[in-house]
Amino acid sequence: MDLEAIKGDIERVIVSEDDLHKRMKELAAQITSDYKDRDLLLIGVLKGAVMAMADLSRYIQRHVDMDWMAVSSYGSGTKSSGVVRILKDLDRDITGREVLIIEDIVDTGLTLSWLRSNLESRGAKSVEILTVLRKPTAAKVEVNVKYVGFDIPPDFVIGYGLDFDEKYRNLPFIAVLAKHMYE
Ligand code: 5GP
Repeated sequence: MDLEAIKGDIERVIVSEDDLHKRMKELAAQITSDYKDRDLLLIGVLKGAVMAMADLSRYIQRHVDMDWMAVSSYGSGTKSSGVVRILKDLDRDITGREVLIIEDIVDTGLTLSWLRSNLESRGAKSVEILTVLRKPTAAKVEVNVKYVGFDIPPDFVIGYGLDFDEKYRNLPFIAVLAKHMYE
């Protein structure tokens, strides 16, 4: 990505590339120890969790299974709708599996609380959640997230998998989108 070309689209960087990798390494170490002698199935939520899944899984010091789901809760705007649709379902049955959901961001928590009960209802033995980012002030639904990368303010952010209208996912850091881009 040519960062010079998109400088004007960004208000400020809130999590640097180095800090993201450091934190993913820490969380991976914690997961490696928490899931010692247990099953571990990572379920990435497309498309935002692609970067986190790629980095985190490479830092986890053991075998992992991976699967993916795509759900939609936002349109191309910047506000949560609370309506969740499955766009792509899991490839495999998860009955009896120990699931760790990998998500990019918790905003209202509506998507994750829906996803957790959906996976629990399929007979998973356990369902835990890892999110790269959390906006605590926006939490409308109490959702128990076991692993949190960073708590951030309630601004609309892009990068490291997070998009605005499908762009900026390939930024190596997390940044606040400049307001003039959507207001
Ligand atoms: P929630 O249901 O928790 O409100 O929203 C979760 C989903 O909304 C995330 O998976 C993400 O796709 C999207 N989302 C929430 N906040 C942001 C944000 O600041 N930036 C981007 N790009 N997407 C967001």
